Amino acid sequence: MSVTTGGALPGGAYDVTVIGAGVVGSAIARELARLPLRTALVEACDDVGDGTSKANTAVLHTGFDAVPGTLESRLVREGQRRLAAYAADAGIPVEPLGALLVAWDEEQLGALAGLAEKAVRNGYRSARIIPAEEVRAREPELGPGVLGALDVPGESIICPWTTTLAYATQAVRAGTDLHLNCRVRSVTPGDPHLLGTSRGPLRTRHLVNAAGLYADEIDRLLGHGDFTVTPRRGQLIVFDELARGLVRHILLPVPGALGKGVLVTPTVYGNVMLGPTAEDLDDKTATGSTAEGLALLREKGRRILPALLEEEVTAVYAGLRAATGSEDYAIRAHPVQRYVSVGGIRSTGLTASMAIAAHVVALLADGGLPVTGARELEPVRMPNLGEAFPRPYRDARMIAADPEYGRIVCHCERVTRGEIRDALAGTVPPGSLDGLRRRTRARGGRCQGFHCGAAVRALFEEGRR
Ligand SMILES: Cc1cc2nc3c(=O)[nH]c(=O)nc-3n(C[C@H](O)[C@H](O)[C@H](O)COP(=O)(O)OP(=O)(O)OC[C@H]3O[C@@H](n4cnc5c(N)ncnc54)[C@H](O)[C@@H]3O)c2cc1C
Repeated sequence: MSVTTGGALPGGAYDVTVIGAGVVGSAIARELARLPLRTALVEACDDVGDGTSKANTAVLHTGFDAVPGTLESRLVREGQRRLAAYAADAGIPVEPLGALLVAWDEEQLGALAGLAEKAVRNGYRSARIIPAEEVRAREPELGPGVLGALDVPGESIICPWTTTLAYATQAVRAGTDLHLNCRVRSVTPGDPHLLGTSRGPLRTRHLVNAAGLYADEIDRLLGHGDFTVTPRRGQLIVFDELARGLVRHILLPVPGALGKGVLVTPTVYGNVMLGPTAEDLDDKTATGSTAEGLALLREKGRRILPALLEEEVTAVYAGLRAATGSEDYAIRAHPVQRYVSVGGIRSTGLTASMAIAAHVVALLADGGLPVTGARELEPVRMPNLGEAFPRPYRDARMIAADPEYGRIVCHCERVTRGEIRDALAGTVPPGSLDGLRRRTRARGGRCQGFHCGAAVRALFEEGRR
């Protein structure tokens, strides 16, 4: 078991290597860790979950609105069940708020029946149309003009950061080698395959490509070219925790041609989020926000929840979906090459991650990967980042046992020295202050580190020595 961040990679061939430690690659590595194999998870960044997986709307979807009959529909449905159960065991915060798909005009109202019927075709039977009065009673702060809604009680919010970290932690504890700062630059197919990485050569018999936005480029290194990733940017506005009382459900729009549209959703950290936009770009690094994008969100948000626009903004950010022009995932097995590519995991990959992982391991088995001798993994229990669950600063017993949990460093998010210390000593420690924020919420609140930044940095640097 090891996490390496620099230097040459170990010699000898791995049985299987997963490229990309986002939520999907980490889930696959965790699933592989159940098998008696030598497995590597290689990641270009200095942390797990530093790509698209850190910047999404964090909804654990039911899959009610997927395209029926697609692989995505099946894997989202199955993934939701698996991840909800896993989250309960692993201490990943989930709040089953339910969603309301709000209709604002006659056309949208007319579309609800079709969506309810689509939900049934996707195996989800609890969606029902509710009248305007009921919508208003359940969401009193909605703007004027609501005509009705589709009630989807199974939708939840989840912590995306803890999910990826839990998968990677469990994989590493079970013996997976996690190599960070390790970008794959070339692949010489063979037996074993020879990967040229920024940290030198790596040999592997089987290969999984979970490189997210770059999955098409890795695929081409192996001689394939059946999908192209177009980054579809989603900008988001995060409102202050004082806005949390304005909204009780995930408020979804009636979907249009470019995906699910703009939603308003609480986060498990106690904020309210508005977004995302959907902009097709050429640049896979364009994660900045734009004045036009934010103005569009504010305009849409004003209609949905006018009072939200009066609240303070805590942060804005953007994530890039790995769109391929297809309404389905592009997961392809090349058994002769002992290679599986996991492309086009666009707007549902967090939800589907565990089901994608099981699917990919089955595909690897078709390519000859020995999958006998699976064992149960040691359970993992992650530190809680969710506002709806007990946190150390208000847990008298924890503080009595260890006073470091009573010493608050980040006052906006009420993060203690004890939590920062634990994160730095974790199985997969953070490689940066942003990584520390994803493990503790430190510097993530309304002052964005203005007050605690220096203290958090000092603890980070001390902890890394
Ligand atoms: C705005 C937005 C909202 C979303 N909302 C939701 C939601 O509510 N619910 C939901 O379920 N899903 C949602 N998603 C989708 C979800 O976030 C993604 O499907 C998921 O994060 C994809 O994970 P991934 O592991 O495939 O990709 P990534 O997280 O991008 O991971 C790929 C990793 O591969 C690494 N990599 C790339 N190239 C190389 C290389 N050559 N060598 C080594 N490493 C490499 C990258 O550094 C990266 O860490 C949303 C996405 C966006 C953008």
